[in-house]
Amino acid sequence: MRKIILVFALFLGVAACKTNPFTGKKVLNFYPNSQIFPTAFAQYDQFLTENKVVENTADAKMITKVGQRISSAAERWLTANGYSGYLKDYKWEYNLVNDETVNAWCMPGGKIVFYTGILPICKGEAGIAVVMGHEVAHALADHGAQRMSAGTLQQLGAVAGNVAIQDPEKRNIFNQAYGVGSQVGVMLPFSRSHETEADRIGLQIMAIAGYDPGEAAELWKRMKANSGGEAPPEFMSTHPSNDTRIKNLTEWAPAARAEAKKFGVTSFQK
Ligand SMILES: [Zn+2]
Repeated sequence: MRKIILVFALFLGVAACKTNPFTGKKVLNFYPNSQIFPTAFAQYDQFLTENKVVENTADAKMITKVGQRISSAAERWLTANGYSGYLKDYKWEYNLVNDETVNAWCMPGGKIVFYTGILPICKGEAGIAVVMGHEVAHALADHGAQRMSAGTLQQLGAVAGNVAIQDPEKRNIFNQAYGVGSQVGVMLPFSRSHETEADRIGLQIMAIAGYDPGEAAELWKRMKANSGGEAPPEFMSTHPSNDTRIKNLTEWAPAARAEAKKFGVTSFQK
């Protein structure tokens, strides 16, 4: 039985490789958007009803403005690189929630939440763009779906014989992968490689949106200075370390500016 499951898992793996447009790498993902997005949208709506959404303030308007610039930059990049249909199922939404936790996340399909607690570290528009670019990058690169896929394989191994993925189980895997329960409201930590990938993609998108990619390293320096405070896994210093992150982002900034120039962006807002 074990062998059969292994073969099935391998088959799923081979059948489910999808190319990440931003890295060109093949990744394991057998959850199409059509399966994940409805769950994500429902979870997002539920989260908003259970938390204090800030509306019509200057900060709330800023989150929307930066979000729109970032998502439109992503769209331009994808279209220019032959992925014009990539975002067709996305339903972008940008919300600010009154909560002092240092956090922000983007659920599959472009559902974004910023917590007021991260705004002092963002300091301003360009800092918000750093965080927005990073979170949107996790969604664009399907990092959550990849984690769900890995979780499914694990579960296939653990639950011998039960290879049919029934809906309640799928929901379970979704919850395990995203951790956006009504109580928790935070994304589970991504792997180190996913974090690094999101940093790199996010930097490129923010530059195309007209924000100075040099601000990314500055943001993580402020995050480092704040690391004694309360921060969920997404913004903790453990993986990659703040120092590695700052070093990487500083190194990659010129390439991000060069990429943005291809889109006619020659001045960058700090
Ligand atoms: Zn991240």
